[in-house]
Amino acid sequence: MGREIDEVKYEVAIATRILAATGLATGVTAGLGHVSMRVPNQPDKFVVKGRGYEIDSLGEMQYYDMIVCDLEGYKIDGPARSTQCSEVKIHACILRERPDVMSVVHVHPRNVVLMTVLEETLVPMCQEGADLVRTPLPLYPHTKTVWSEEEGMELVRTLGDAKAVLMQGHGATMTGRSPSDAVISMLQLEEQARMNRWAVAAKGSDHKRISDAYLDEATNRPRQDEYPHFKELMRRIGGNPPRNGVWNSYRKQVSADMVKP
Ligand SMILES: [Zn+2]
Repeated sequence: MGREIDEVKYEVAIATRILAATGLATGVTAGLGHVSMRVPNQPDKFVVKGRGYEIDSLGEMQYYDMIVCDLEGYKIDGPARSTQCSEVKIHACILRERPDVMSVVHVHPRNVVLMTVLEETLVPMCQEGADLVRTPLPLYPHTKTVWSEEEGMELVRTLGDAKAVLMQGHGATMTGRSPSDAVISMLQLEEQARMNRWAVAAKGSDHKRISDAYLDEATNRPRQDEYPHFKELMRRIGGNPPRNGVWNSYRKQVSADMVKP
């Protein structure tokens, strides 16, 4: 299928392993969840984890385990004995209907699931991911897995132009500009859900949240390299430092035994 697709498969395998490494898919959910990535130069194709491996755990994936699909969710390449993931329509329908999306992550994070069953609206409770929940996220009102085109399209309509959609008693689906954007955003969403759960347990449904005024204050401010004590140094080293260090750390952790294409 070509060098580019093998590189995309490797990136998807890394992101899939990071779901396990960060606890988004462990224990009872060790085999559940998937990351997809649109192939940059073939935008009508995407790569995602499949089903039917002898060892089926997100933390074990290699690039050659990955499945290439078209935007209808049909398998067009991958190991002979593997199928696409059962919820491939989540990825196919979103990537087809949202050309702005490059990557989709679907997992069953425990705190997110719990809060959807309790019908508690997630609100900003810490900095990390506050923007994700500042406006209530859309909720797909079903617990069943997304198998059909109709179910996939209902999920897409519920998502609308939001970044993520919650799925009642099931999980969440996150969109992103890249696998790292989508996975890190999913981690932040799960952290907000954990903080919301503690708040509900301590204070009930009408607990306090970070106010819009404080969120605005945190957002509407100069860039860090505009402050006098950073300005000269950051100009010399070429602007604000890169923000992908955490991703690179997980990447290093999970890739030690990975085969490169
Ligand atoms: Zn699911």
